[in-house]
Amino acid sequence: MWDISETKIISNNTILKQLAMISYKELGLVNTRRMFSKAVDGGYAIPAFNFNNMEQLQAIVMAAVETKSPVILQVSKGARNYANQTLLRYMAEGAVEYAKELGCKAPEIVLHLDHGDSFELCKSCIDMGFSSVMIDGSALPYDENVALTRKVVDYAHQYDVTVEGELGVLAGVEEEVSSAESHYTKPEEVIDFVTKTGVDSLAISIGTSHGAYKFTPEQCTVDPKTGRLLPPPLAFDVLEAIEKKLPGFPIVLHGSSSVPQEEVDTINQYGGNMKAAVGIPEEQLRQAAKSAVCKINIDSDSRLAMTAAIRKALAEKPAEFDPRKYLTPARDSMKKLYMHKIVNVLGSNEKLQNA
Ligand SMILES: [Zn+2]
Repeated sequence: MWDISETKIISNNTILKQLAMISYKELGLVNTRRMFSKAVDGGYAIPAFNFNNMEQLQAIVMAAVETKSPVILQVSKGARNYANQTLLRYMAEGAVEYAKELGCKAPEIVLHLDHGDSFELCKSCIDMGFSSVMIDGSALPYDENVALTRKVVDYAHQYDVTVEGELGVLAGVEEEVSSAESHYTKPEEVIDFVTKTGVDSLAISIGTSHGAYKFTPEQCTVDPKTGRLLPPPLAFDVLEAIEKKLPGFPIVLHGSSSVPQEEVDTINQYGGNMKAAVGIPEEQLRQAAKSAVCKINIDSDSRLAMTAAIRKALAEKPAEFDPRKYLTPARDSMKKLYMHKIVNVLGSNEKLQNA
């Protein structure tokens, strides 16, 4: 007998399921699992670049394709508020197709939620096609951080989406994430946290910091040769202690822009006012990339490159009013920056398998 009611239920469920979930795999995106294990073994780090507009995304994809690098596209809360989560997801899908059009046969692109602050937000990103999420419970008491992270991992792993957790607190301001003081990650907590939560990677605090003003002048010393401010060094002893506890486990560094002083100078030269902007020296990031650090987040440097190029272009051609004319040098400058990071700092170039 034809049981119409049952058929209806089955088809409704199928439709609901199709409506509710989009798998990142259908979009041509990948999660971070294989990417990170190769990076840890190979002694390099994957770039995680934040994006919230088309020119930035074009620059990231062009740089990744030309250098044959895997890449993580990051969406922060601020980016979602500015550009809309759905639109950003479609842009990431477009990025995969664009990379292929640029000649990359098998791009390895991750769409990652940066600083997810609730289970609901992580779930909504997973349901709409993100391949990786961060749940940042680092400001919570330890046990609550564990419980929240575990909940996200349980949901994400059903769909083969990878999860980044965080222990320790970074100083600085990154959109809605801000803290006056940093607290280094406690190496004695990492094994328990990773075991209890099942996270795929761990963001740690060893002295990196969000934003373009990472350190106060009082925290810095002055380089006698250049007169520039030199920030305090990263706590490599803490990183080493963590690596000893979790051999080969993927570690993530946030707030790792270097704040290139040429860009700050250009901004100031053309009417800007950025005083005492200081970042993490590239030499230290290069050293970190060779360790178990396999994802390095860079956002501020791209903002600086874009702002400097736009200010210069507008100052030199004050009659220009076509955004394409001043966004073209901005996009070129960001692309140059991304390529420099990939090749000279992270070492993720020439790492695509079938490029
Ligand atoms: Zn961050």
